[in-house]
Amino acid sequence: MTTFIAVLYIISFALFIYGLMGLTGPRTAVRGNWIAAVGMGIAVIATLLTPGMGNWLLIALGVAIGVVVGVPSARKVKMTAMPQMVALFNGVGGGAVALIAWVEFRTTDGYAHEPAYVAIASLFAAIVGSVSFWGSNIAFGKLQELISGRPITLGKLQQPVNAIVLLAAIVFAVVIATGGDAELLMIGLLLAAGVLGVVVVLPIGGADMPVVISLLNALTGLSAAAMGLALDNTALIVAGMIVGASGSILTNLMAKAMNRSIPAIVAGGFGGGSAVASGGSGEVRPVRSTSASDTAIQMAYANKVVVVPGYGMAVAQAQHMVREMAKLLEAKGITVEYAIHPVAGRMPGHMNVLLAEADVPYEQLKEMDEINSEFAQTDVALVIGANDVTNPAAETDPGSPIYGMPILKVNHSRSVIVLKRSMSSGFAGIDNELFYDAKTSMLFGDAKSSVSEIVEELKAL
Ligand code: NDP
Repeated sequence: MTTFIAVLYIISFALFIYGLMGLTGPRTAVRGNWIAAVGMGIAVIATLLTPGMGNWLLIALGVAIGVVVGVPSARKVKMTAMPQMVALFNGVGGGAVALIAWVEFRTTDGYAHEPAYVAIASLFAAIVGSVSFWGSNIAFGKLQELISGRPITLGKLQQPVNAIVLLAAIVFAVVIATGGDAELLMIGLLLAAGVLGVVVVLPIGGADMPVVISLLNALTGLSAAAMGLALDNTALIVAGMIVGASGSILTNLMAKAMNRSIPAIVAGGFGGGSAVASGGSGEVRPVRSTSASDTAIQMAYANKVVVVPGYGMAVAQAQHMVREMAKLLEAKGITVEYAIHPVAGRMPGHMNVLLAEADVPYEQLKEMDEINSEFAQTDVALVIGANDVTNPAAETDPGSPIYGMPILKVNHSRSVIVLKRSMSSGFAGIDNELFYDAKTSMLFGDAKSSVSEIVEELKAL
């Protein structure tokens, strides 16, 4: 049986890795996801085949609850709510690891009789799992707007409080590792780590949330790998390391894309706090508004149009209409490209996924670094529901919470047309100078309706 279980685990790892490879491109992503899911199913079966598995009724109940809660919520979730769903599912993983560490502590009467590596790995898993669970719940609350998305800080006390709770968790861990077997010690450790997760994530707000979710995801993976080491469970080690490694790489890429430092995230040192909601000053400034027909004419006489999609395009589900518009422009000999900012939308790769869904040719999608040098030769930059990722304040205003984040330099193009419903701010909650630029015209309305009106106008031209 042991060999059979080992073989099943090897098959499941192979499927995880093969599935992950599929996730590198939008066209293969769905298949990759299915392959990895089958791998996970095999890993679960292999684990259940382990001799002395225990209470089957409880296991069946757990699986049933997981299916009843997980499947409908994953099927129903809107694409735009995906980040909070990822945060929630990720948090549950971290919480499960922390609970396993607690159960192991109870069954082995503390870690005094276990080899040192088991104690160290389990305590690491308990701390990191608990941080991840509570941190992810706060991230979920912020993204779901159950709590304010703004930085919630303890002011000058923030860093000392972070340091104290971290120290408390470490002290509990050291006492347990050196022979402490009172259950209260373990509860204290889990609580201290939980408070740490809360106080680290609460001060992070605005545009910095994607990096945090990715970091918490990596932490969950690492905690699962550590628990696998302690339990001598190869499946947990491999799956945990895959999540930990890919999550760390993603965190690094996102932090680079937003010009943030990861140590600063952990120290709760970013997220600003200086975010000012659009119109917070009460000042009303004039903007130039335009119509669908003028937009169509302007684009019809252009040589090159760059579409800059953002979160609003996802909300409006305008991607198919955008593709239709692009086809009409291309038929008139106009070059159309799409400028993809790494954090546009609400999850990594959000725009790529939407545009792939609308069959936009992959070669037309241009990454930020590539397209930025092309804006100077662009006649019309058509900004569809994007805001923060085009905000020049990231380059010009050191007081802005997004200062330092690389942006799409749409203001370098000859003219800019922004499609959005109002003058409301984007995710970071700040005003956007681009909208007041002399080159910019605003086409107010829902992105899908506006693009569909433009399509009608283009057809009539
Ligand atoms: P933003 O959130 O900055 O702006 C989106 C704009 O879309 C809003 O200003 C809104 O204006 C407009 N909008 C909303 N609904 C519609 C609609 N139906 N039709 C037309 N417009 C609409 O989006 P960006 O993509 O520019 O930037 C992404 C932001 O999200 C960044 O701050 C990023 O850090 C953050 N983020 C990114 C994540 C990621 O992984 N990609 C995850 C979490 C956060 P109005 O209401 O006036 O229409």
